[in-house]
Amino acid sequence: MIRIPITEPELRARIRAADPTWERRAKERAAKAADKRRVDDGDGIWSDIKHVFMELQGWKCMYCEKPMPRPDEHGGSSGKVEYDVEHFRPKNRVQPWPTERVKESRRIDYAARLRHGAANGYVHLAFDPWNYGVSCKVCNSELKGDRFPILGKPAARSRRRRALDAKEMPCLVLPIGDEGEDPQAWLEWHGPTVRPRAELEGDDRVRALTLIDFLELDTRQDLLLGRCMAIVVLADWLEAALDDPAAVDEADRFIAAMVADQAVFAGCLRGFCELYRRDRDQALHWRQQARKYAASKEPALLKELP
Ligand SMILES: [Zn+2]
Repeated sequence: MIRIPITEPELRARIRAADPTWERRAKERAAKAADKRRVDDGDGIWSDIKHVFMELQGWKCMYCEKPMPRPDEHGGSSGKVEYDVEHFRPKNRVQPWPTERVKESRRIDYAARLRHGAANGYVHLAFDPWNYGVSCKVCNSELKGDRFPILGKPAARSRRRRALDAKEMPCLVLPIGDEGEDPQAWLEWHGPTVRPRAELEGDDRVRALTLIDFLELDTRQDLLLGRCMAIVVLADWLEAALDDPAAVDEADRFIAAMVADQAVFAGCLRGFCELYRRDRDQALHWRQQARKYAASKEPALLKELP
């Protein structure tokens, strides 16, 4: 996960340019939701601006960074069923996390530290695009749903994201925008796998652990496989730049494209570039493990290096 930088006014301007009626319609629905104190299923108009977020995100999930299908020029599948507009703070209610099953399967020993967001949800943010992003079905429906673990106190009434974050200390990160935690400050990459940064302590460590456990960023096979394949390609470009002075410009161009904000698995690949510069032997060892994993999908290959 990486931050996709954009300011709030710029995001709103993009929405206005894409659909000049959306803000007016959102305002009307927000007033209706405020009266009823809940959002009805039929009132959702957030999907109308899904493509604004998809362009901004480079057609990848904002949480797990896996690619999502883009409509093709031949009118083929748009892949719309594979991703959703995600309300970072849930609309109508907040459910506790972790469930007993998750606690057991992921051996979570810090659950007693966690609270959960406003029990009745954040109805007043349901039509606020500064609370949106687009995520894949696994992240959105299977894993997140109405859950919103925090370490602070629920702040149902605040409207501003910065004020909410300061009070609630959410354990998840909304990576769209220029506010809140930078996920890269929490995550440390070991080849294709991820852990909380070693220097984190106390609350920050619990938040980073929760982010990884909640989205299963370290164990989902499709993510590990995608990151492994990307590491193999990236490592080859890094090596090409080293071996052949004539290839440096081309290699630099491809490397820059692979770690750009809109690139899939950019968080992992930025971590790999850092490792390559710090410890080339270890990076090349990870390339070897990544090649083997891509062929076998054997999780033992991705255990920590000695
Ligand atoms: Zn995802």
